[in-house]
Amino acid sequence: MIQKVLIANRGEIALRIVRACRELGIKTLAVYSEADVQSLHVQLADEAICIGGPKSADSYLRADRIISAAEIADVDAIHPGYGFLSENAKFAEQCESCNIKFIGPKSKSIKMMGDKAVARETARKAGVPVVPGSDGIVETEKDALKTARSIGYPVIIKAVAGGGGRGMRIAHNDVSFAKEYHIARGEAEKAFGNGSVYIERYVESPRHIEFQLLGDSHGKIVHLGERDCSVQRRHQKLIEESPSPFLTADLRKKMGKAAIRVAEAVEYENAGTVEFLVDPKGHFFFIEANTRIQVEHPVTEEVTGIDIVKEQIRIANGEELDFDQGDVKQEKHAIECRINAEDPARNFAPSPGTIGLYYPPGGLGVRVDSHAYSGYTIPPFYDSMIGKLICSGPTRKVALERTYRALSEYLIRGIKTTIPLHKAIMADPVFIEGKATTAYMEEFMSRTTPDLFS
Ligand code: ADP
Repeated sequence: MIQKVLIANRGEIALRIVRACRELGIKTLAVYSEADVQSLHVQLADEAICIGGPKSADSYLRADRIISAAEIADVDAIHPGYGFLSENAKFAEQCESCNIKFIGPKSKSIKMMGDKAVARETARKAGVPVVPGSDGIVETEKDALKTARSIGYPVIIKAVAGGGGRGMRIAHNDVSFAKEYHIARGEAEKAFGNGSVYIERYVESPRHIEFQLLGDSHGKIVHLGERDCSVQRRHQKLIEESPSPFLTADLRKKMGKAAIRVAEAVEYENAGTVEFLVDPKGHFFFIEANTRIQVEHPVTEEVTGIDIVKEQIRIANGEELDFDQGDVKQEKHAIECRINAEDPARNFAPSPGTIGLYYPPGGLGVRVDSHAYSGYTIPPFYDSMIGKLICSGPTRKVALERTYRALSEYLIRGIKTTIPLHKAIMADPVFIEGKATTAYMEEFMSRTTPDLFS
């Protein structure tokens, strides 16, 4: 049985894991970089070990140091959170070979889903629709152009190793294709050390709808319903909600089954997400799977009442899921706003620095997952998310009103944040009517004065 967990992450997700462990009576070890000495997860964990310099490459990505820390502190499991080493199959393997449980899927499943072109092929073989596109990676410009023409423009060129909305370029014709193809390869090489790309048809104005899955080590896989993550900027999610205002009960059932088929094809264990694009006519297409806990998991927790991080730990302990698909009910509506230290009035420029006053909202149906506090200095080395506001209620209308109210109460002085932007979106008729697609943010920004956000 797991008695002590090393948390190989930082920020709000590290804190989230500390909290779940504490409720389960499990001890925690925080590992941290020199830039994160002040971080709440370091202060709240039972033990903490510094593993290196501020840059991720010198600390949170140093598998060797993390495993050494685990051995010194005698932990039995490592929770990788999201980002960093969470989808690194080699790291999962290293943990297992050192007799430390990796709280996540088997390295084989991570490998199969980690390469997006392989994941696409796996989904297709499992009978799940994928966006029309190339058969695997396209090796030469000539082949790529031929494929793009046969798919029909617009197309999207995507890095097989891509993630976090990076490594994607859209082309509208032969001329732009040649240019974008080379840019995509170069960017992918630089960001992921792997320049391989594949091509998909660019679906116009789709919804991004993903299914949360849990699989135990006894072969049982259930889904916890969907999250609609269509509000994105540069392919990065800003707002997530559940249930999706777009899905019918019938479509939800079909997509849930399809998500489970993908997971079964890789013998999926632990928490994971299968992502789809849904076109305006309701046709859905698999795009990728994430083999880890996701930023937006609290939305599902609020709607279903299931603590996903605790389930991850129970699954890693070899326990069976103690509920069936029929027991999962979407009983509430929940909306999550990502609070980033960015200035939406200035093209989302990063705004690190020291927070003056920090006052998070509260009240019925309001949850704040954040590592920020008054006097906390946001280090410039990591991503800009400093918290998540998750509001829930019996209906979408109540969840919306609550989100607007909570955003109005949320005080973060000394830095710029996305709070004013979220407020404007919560008051925008297109979002209120549940009509936002992935094209929404660009359209919303084009008809909004940025000054509104300062
Ligand atoms: P990442 O792994 O970087 O998050 P995804 O494959 O999940 O990349 O895609 C992220 C977002 O990019 C999607 O939610 C969607 O908005 C957009 N996108 C990806 N593929 C397509 C496509 N074929 N057509 C239209 N938009 C797409």
